[in-house]
Amino acid sequence: MRNITIVTAVIAVALLAAGMVQAQATQHAVTDDIQPRAGQAQAPPGILSITYIEMDGSGDATLIQAPDGSNILVDAGDRFKSRYQEVKSVLEQNNVDVIDLAIATHGDADHVGGFNHLLEDRDYTVNEIWFMGTEKTTATVGKFLTLSAGIRTHVSAGQSESFDGMTIEVLSPPTQGMGNDENANSIVSLLEYGNLEFLFTGDATEATESWLVNNVPSDKLDIDIMNAPHHGSIKTSNTQAFITATSPELVIFSADEDNRYGHPHQETRDRYASNGVVQLQTGRDGHVNIRTDGTKCSILFTDGTEVACFEGVSRLSDVTPNRGNQDPPQQPPGIAEPQEMGNMVRDIPDWVRQTAEWWVRGLIPDEVYIQSLEYLIKVGIINVGTS
Ligand SMILES: [Zn+2]
Repeated sequence: MRNITIVTAVIAVALLAAGMVQAQATQHAVTDDIQPRAGQAQAPPGILSITYIEMDGSGDATLIQAPDGSNILVDAGDRFKSRYQEVKSVLEQNNVDVIDLAIATHGDADHVGGFNHLLEDRDYTVNEIWFMGTEKTTATVGKFLTLSAGIRTHVSAGQSESFDGMTIEVLSPPTQGMGNDENANSIVSLLEYGNLEFLFTGDATEATESWLVNNVPSDKLDIDIMNAPHHGSIKTSNTQAFITATSPELVIFSADEDNRYGHPHQETRDRYASNGVVQLQTGRDGHVNIRTDGTKCSILFTDGTEVACFEGVSRLSDVTPNRGNQDPPQQPPGIAEPQEMGNMVRDIPDWVRQTAEWWVRGLIPDEVYIQSLEYLIKVGIINVGTS
């Protein structure tokens, strides 16, 4: 009986801790998380912010601001100075001085070109660049290789890095590469934070897609949000098999309107539509800023509107913790009543109970829960040592 009590108490403490953290995040979200201007306000700690940057013409650049404040840039747009200015304005709006990690997906000028400006720009420090590269020898790539010489890391599938609960992992290409095709060798990376997963695809081709489908465990390749491979080209990429395997809820086309390639192709749009995937396009929708605490997820548009990332997920600003004296919320399964806990747990606030269930479902990272235990003990909600 005693063991059961202890186990129950530990579980309850865990749940309460998780609930506390969630509720704190909630409070934060309601007050100042959402500055409804995409890419114009740095996200607060604990919030992952990803901005798919709109730029003229062709070009791909995505700013990731990790929950711990680290900045990651996936591609840096085209080689033209004017395009770089568009990327730079987003960096400035988000108070970026240091790029902790950059990923140059491949050597095409519309992805790697902007790095040549960034690396020469004294306003920024770039700490590390991941690059695979092939035998492509354009002037743009040559300059990039020179400028990035001291900080460039040759990566392939399996390379990963963690940022305080958020991880980013290279899924492709494999060590041996994908032949001589530059696009096929695009670095495809998976970002995981809480229960949200993002895929960054560069100009991945049908060959890349096929390799991923055949070599990455299906549960890992099943993601929530991705940028469409090769700006939404139907000629080279976006196969049905890949869409089935990734099963995104939301796809972003990194493409200007009326670009000379016609990206994204109508057939691509039709294919994603027939798979029930919500579609956004930078050239049409502006900078697409996605923010999440790992559970809730919002898209912030440049016109100030905020919507939930996709059906079944709450907006960050929608959370309303129950602090009032309304009917007691339903108790999550497995939590004993406070009176059964003796002195270990007292006065469980309703809003803690209400959110505790989310941790049971694995919606809150363990790291966050562990950090919160000390706080709960400190404020006396958990009273250890007197039981
Ligand atoms: Zn491209």
